[in-house]
Amino acid sequence: MSDSEINPQPALPGVFGPLRGANGNVRITGPCGDTMEFWVLIQDGQIQRCTFTTDGCSSSIACGTATCTLASGAPEAVAFELQPEDVLALLPDFPDEDKHCALLATHTLKSAISDYRKKHCPPEACASCEKECSSRKEPLPPVQAEPNGLSGVKHNIVVLSGKGGVGKSTVAANLALSLSAKGFKVGLLDADLHGPSVPTLFNLSGEHVEQFGDTVEPVRAGGIKLMSSGFMLEHPDQAVIMRGPLKMKVLEQMLHGVNWGELDYLITDCPPGTGDEPLSVCQLIGSPDGAVIVTTPQEIAAADVRKSVQFCRKLNLPILGIIENMSGYTCPKCGETVHLFGKDGGRKLCEKYNLAFLGRIPIDPNVGLCGDAGHSFLERHGESDSAKAFEIAVEQVLFALKKEF
Ligand code: ADP
Repeated sequence: MSDSEINPQPALPGVFGPLRGANGNVRITGPCGDTMEFWVLIQDGQIQRCTFTTDGCSSSIACGTATCTLASGAPEAVAFELQPEDVLALLPDFPDEDKHCALLATHTLKSAISDYRKKHCPPEACASCEKECSSRKEPLPPVQAEPNGLSGVKHNIVVLSGKGGVGKSTVAANLALSLSAKGFKVGLLDADLHGPSVPTLFNLSGEHVEQFGDTVEPVRAGGIKLMSSGFMLEHPDQAVIMRGPLKMKVLEQMLHGVNWGELDYLITDCPPGTGDEPLSVCQLIGSPDGAVIVTTPQEIAAADVRKSVQFCRKLNLPILGIIENMSGYTCPKCGETVHLFGKDGGRKLCEKYNLAFLGRIPIDPNVGLCGDAGHSFLERHGESDSAKAFEIAVEQVLFALKKEF
């Protein structure tokens, strides 16, 4: 489609206004105060028609029009992935200060498609559905989830990262510590079988879980219930060599064979990446309430996180937001901040995928020192910028969870 086929303003009459017979519809008010409403008619996995209205300015109208034009006739999965950049590519010389209108338009379209899916495509239908749909592009390996083992758990949160070394375990542990300090009943499952870090982070190396009949008692650190493959090793330095089916059995045991009891939150520190292991963990949990994705600002780590975003979308796993860890180092002497791993990677990703940005956690040598010594960084360095950033991220996670329920 050439630029000349798009008339940025006013709206094309064919796409402005309610759509009779629409099977997906949503109205959203953006942060700027403008409201957009989208209607979609989806049949056979294709957007047959798409219309919108807005009370916003001519830029909102232009973005709504371009979004509807791109979506109409497109496969549902393609329309769902439309990005503000795709819309703006059709609108040359679009004012910079109004670019958020493109985000509002694509987000509203996406939500209208989600509305259709909720009504017409229940998650349990996905497994047998043949349709080309972004909810599930490829069949998932069969896993027997046993949700009963987690029946006392109110909220399941998984912490993911596209690759290792970005601070995923550190974030998971501090999330657990902070929630526990707020008075919640918390469990932390270290599902990283090859690099269990929870025993070290809580200064509990050498501790072992106790078996009572069919169930295992978790190890406790203050009020937090902990489970890690590290607590099942005879020696902390022992290497874990396990093949697929055995790994699955162990993960299943660590989730469903543990006496978690009544918990407000079970935080699962997932294995890094987007392969079979995090996939199995999420499937074994059943349907986690949401995922926190950890990245560094670096472009390469951000590229890995894109895969994590796709991973969650395939699993219909709500993304609570992205934490940008190791985000700048402020010299304690001169106060200058150096961005060792680049700047803003996490925030840009959030803008691109319309996700909540949970915050930036600066590099602080005490994070590493406390982690290695098994001390709570939040308790010992509560006044530091990094500790405050952790606390803000936790508040944001709680806020995002409230929105999910
Ligand atoms: P992952 O679980 O992603 O592999 P870890 O949580 O084990 O990553 O963190 C990797 C290393 O980075 C650890 O030594 C940890 O103490 C350190 N680290 C994590 N976040 C920070 C931070 N904000 N400042 C300083 N060191 C950090």
